[in-house]
Amino acid sequence: MSIVDLFQDKTVFSFEVFPPQRNASIETIYDTLYDLRDLRPDFISVTYGAGGGKNNVSTVPIAEHINDICHVPSVVHFPCVNQSKKDVLEKIEELKAAGIENILALRGDIPEGERNQGDFRYASDLIAFLREHGDFNISAACYPEGHLESPDKVEDIRNLKNKVDAGVNHLISQLFFENKHFYIFQERCALAGINVPIEAGIMPVINKRQVQKMASLCGVNVPKKFQRILEKYEDNPVAMRDAGIAYAVDQIVDLVTHGVDGVHLYTMNNSYIARKIYKATHSLFESTNKGAKKASSSA
Ligand code: FAD
Repeated sequence: MSIVDLFQDKTVFSFEVFPPQRNASIETIYDTLYDLRDLRPDFISVTYGAGGGKNNVSTVPIAEHINDICHVPSVVHFPCVNQSKKDVLEKIEELKAAGIENILALRGDIPEGERNQGDFRYASDLIAFLREHGDFNISAACYPEGHLESPDKVEDIRNLKNKVDAGVNHLISQLFFENKHFYIFQERCALAGINVPIEAGIMPVINKRQVQKMASLCGVNVPKKFQRILEKYEDNPVAMRDAGIAYAVDQIVDLVTHGVDGVHLYTMNNSYIARKIYKATHSLFESTNKGAKKASSSA
């Protein structure tokens, strides 16, 4: 199933998982998916080599497992950094053979101190290539606070518009801790004529180290309100976890009531946290009917 159709009449709630780290067994992610199977998010995406790990091999089998165990559509992340056209064509054939319909097309991070040696300079090049060679539903990444490499937000939106025009059906955002960044970004997209559904990426934070890593890797701001939580509970893991869950729930409630197209939960493969957040918010998604909302707001 093409996931873009989901956005027509509901606010989408999706999950992201990643393949286990190199030394861990693939069974660990299958256990996580098994724990999540009764929740029925609208789709689950699987990262590919994120963070520079060489954990690429299992992405496609995990996506197949998502369909089989959780009975929801899967989305395969597909970074093209350092890939030749031949590599990408082989990958396309692998995805077709596995029956994968949904791809999150990415450039990927260029390892520090290296240059991209592949045939695709930007995600937009990969997207145009995928459009030529397959009939996939194509999603792409976007950055409410701007991508770290962009000189400014105007340039970032211009590049995003080019990327969407290359053939993107749907966008998923980088995580953010202050919803105002996402709302301003939505306005910029609307002004630029970017009209595809945009899902808001939410990451529940459960320790200080994780936030510091994310802030430096992704360039996201950590608001004072959140810093106070980190400082107060950094030595109390249970309180920190509960505060992280509550903070994510609060963000989601605000996003859904502002009428976002969808929320993408970075689960960090933590089924306990994903379950808590899902249970606290899923009725909000069930009761949003975009068709009705649009009709009433135009009345
Ligand atoms: P692009 O869209 O190509 O943008 C990269 C930079 O180039 C931006 O600064 C952009 O403004 C600029 N740019 C684009 N086009 C042009 C142009 N024509 N001229 C000049 N500048 C241009 N990484 C992984 O390795 N694996 C994953 O599974 C993964 N999943 C992710 C999921 C989400 C939801 C997000 C938000 C990110 C994910 N990433 C993943 C990280 C992502 O690959 C990095 O953020 C990477 O640095 C950029 O990838 P992109 O596809 O956004 O690149």
